[in-house]
Amino acid sequence: MSNSTIDFKGRVAIVTGAGGGLGRQHALALAARGAKVVVNDLGGARDGSGGSVSAAQAVVDEIKAAGGEAIANGASVTDFEAVQAMVKQAVDAWGRVDILVNNAGILRDKSFAKMELADFKLVVDVHLMGAVNCTKAVWALMNEQKYGRIVMTTSSSGLYGNFGQSNYGAAKLALVGLMQTLSIEGAKNDIRVNCLAPTAATRMTEDLFPPEMLEAFRPEAVVPAMLVLAAQDAPNRTILCAGAGTFEAAHITLTQGAWLGIAADTPEQLAARLSDVTEREGEAVPQSGAAQGANEVAKGMANARRG
Ligand code: NAD
Repeated sequence: MSNSTIDFKGRVAIVTGAGGGLGRQHALALAARGAKVVVNDLGGARDGSGGSVSAAQAVVDEIKAAGGEAIANGASVTDFEAVQAMVKQAVDAWGRVDILVNNAGILRDKSFAKMELADFKLVVDVHLMGAVNCTKAVWALMNEQKYGRIVMTTSSSGLYGNFGQSNYGAAKLALVGLMQTLSIEGAKNDIRVNCLAPTAATRMTEDLFPPEMLEAFRPEAVVPAMLVLAAQDAPNRTILCAGAGTFEAAHITLTQGAWLGIAADTPEQLAARLSDVTEREGEAVPQSGAAQGANEVAKGMANARRG
């Protein structure tokens, strides 16, 4: 990554869920650095109920007042036809879509014991299928352009778990899985796909942070991570965590493991060596699922040859 200014002149961005919270800051920052921005927001409540385009329009007004270019869109990311129409709106106005920030989201927290399946499915639908719908709607275009930057918004709840968020955590880690494969499939046409795991005081989290932490966790502090992941020089296949001025990368690592023999079919043998299998010294990040499988075969064959 160079030290030059990151700018988005001539770029077209779609930011979903940009009527408030993090999405609003993402849209304002992209526009301030020259991008033309589709500000999408359903305009509903934190649990996804209700809706109005006025939240998105207010952000568009703010961008325009600052001299930027933006259009409002009130589609729900769960509605593929409406999402396709949103992409058409961008293309009709500006001819291309370079950046997609999948940010829209809702919460329906409850312990798994008390959770209705409908609340599980809705949260998966908005976070996972919403991002799938938006990504699918720009994918052919980005492939034709041979350029695309896609940011999936994951969460520490998905990466590490949180009480009461089985639906949300499952959906958020699913986005990491989506990113892992799309970053491989998109690479040949310079489509780079990354994940952002933010921590910020927004209406989604306002009741979680003590008052003295609200200022530190201002949403603006997450924005640099999104801008780096959306930039021309963006990495590919990175999970960036950002909050309160701290930035970290999360990895899904693989231990060195232990070879128990080709015919090691008994759980007792594995149980006896479990601490060797889970030992973290020397762990690595495989470049793909296939690479992990191939590595297992290679290790097994090398060990078998040694006898
Ligand atoms: P927020 O509630 O302020 O913003 C979410 C926005 O998404 C809202 O404006 C909402 O109207 C919109 N939205 C909801 N459903 C939609 C739909 N179907 N279609 C279009 N728009 C829809 O919350 P936020 O904290 O700014 O969250 C932004 C993203 O960051 C979410 O994906 C959230 O899960 C993620 N996240 C936030 C935190 C945090 O600490 N705030 C932590 C981890 C992940």
